[in-house]
Amino acid sequence: MSDTFHAMWRSLLPIGRSDASGGYRRYAWTGADADCRLWFQAQAEARGLFTETDRNGNQWAWLGDPLAGDAVVTGSHLDSVPDGGAFDGPLGVVSSFAALDELRRRGAVFARPFAITNFGDEEGARFGLACVGSRLAAGQLSVQDAHRLRDGDGVSLPAAMEAAGHDPDAIGADPERLARIGAFVELHVEQGRALDVSGDPVGVASAIWPHGRWRFDFRGEANHAGTTRLADRRDPMLTYAETVLAARREAEFAGGLATFGKIAVEPNGVNAIPSLVRGWLDARAADQSALDAVVSGVERAAREHAERAGIDLDVVRESFTPVVDFQHALRDEIRRVLEKRGAESVDGAGRAGRAVPVLGTGAGHDAGILSASVPTAMLFVRNPTGISHSPAEHAAEDDCVAGVRALADVLEGLACS
Ligand SMILES: [Zn+2]
Repeated sequence: MSDTFHAMWRSLLPIGRSDASGGYRRYAWTGADADCRLWFQAQAEARGLFTETDRNGNQWAWLGDPLAGDAVVTGSHLDSVPDGGAFDGPLGVVSSFAALDELRRRGAVFARPFAITNFGDEEGARFGLACVGSRLAAGQLSVQDAHRLRDGDGVSLPAAMEAAGHDPDAIGADPERLARIGAFVELHVEQGRALDVSGDPVGVASAIWPHGRWRFDFRGEANHAGTTRLADRRDPMLTYAETVLAARREAEFAGGLATFGKIAVEPNGVNAIPSLVRGWLDARAADQSALDAVVSGVERAAREHAERAGIDLDVVRESFTPVVDFQHALRDEIRRVLEKRGAESVDGAGRAGRAVPVLGTGAGHDAGILSASVPTAMLFVRNPTGISHSPAEHAAEDDCVAGVRALADVLEGLACS
């Protein structure tokens, strides 16, 4: 099993890698994306699978009749964030093919149609919106809104699709296709350290945390940095700074996460007191009430500081994704399969029959989008540093192999007689 995994991994590694950073730049509908799609097709054809690209640019590799219904589907994405790591997305796709190889080695007989997917434009690195392929299919992104998306060079999504040979007029909700899926399982590298802390190579997802982005506009008065007395200033940077500190305090207090990672300043001069500081708050928490507590706490602190300093403040919610609670029946079934397998074998540390950890995540995924339409589950593979969306993202070889085995066990339990 590890041989086919590593051969695939090696063949995918050079595609879209930047020599300068060592990270990946596999953006939707670019040359690197096309190379990833050819790689996927070659892997599928080498295994005798029937491949197709759906209306929304998602790739499918089928074993059995795609139209029969009640299919078991696994997969992830091959695109990346700017200078992303090798594992986020590709680990799920490579593990899917390797799990099929493992099931064939075991002589498993498929009783349900089976497919491996590569969802298009998951990271949203080029057009600014994540999970475009799955959102379109699930009807969570309208055709009009998709057609309005532009990349940093002003190229529209339809123009980019067309240039890559895909018909942009064909995109849109695809309920018939989703209705033929009985279960979707996505394996993904963990984007945190929960499995490293618990000492487990593989875990099962419980939920994706609710999360969103809020824009804070702090308006003061531009003036000369060298001639304006401190007492005479209306400096929005100070109020912004107080707000950043408040975000940290509120997140710690509510057990959530809050980050100001992007800022725009006007006039943005070294010797000018700013007239405007615009900061974007990314906030996430395990449940809605904790998220509300974080965001309202940050906003309250920002308003108090703004009022005291004579600063005008506007707060706009720019995007929001509610909690995704993965289907309990499928999750419990997956845990049963994995724990039964665990009880039959002893792991490297001499332990048998360990409970499989169930963990939430603050990161969005195609599986989260699909979960509104399809019974969906996720497996996570240990990430020893927790680093993700960076060239330093990593998973150990043994853990990748454990992930493939777990995925094969799950698929065998779901799809095979
Ligand atoms: Zn991902």
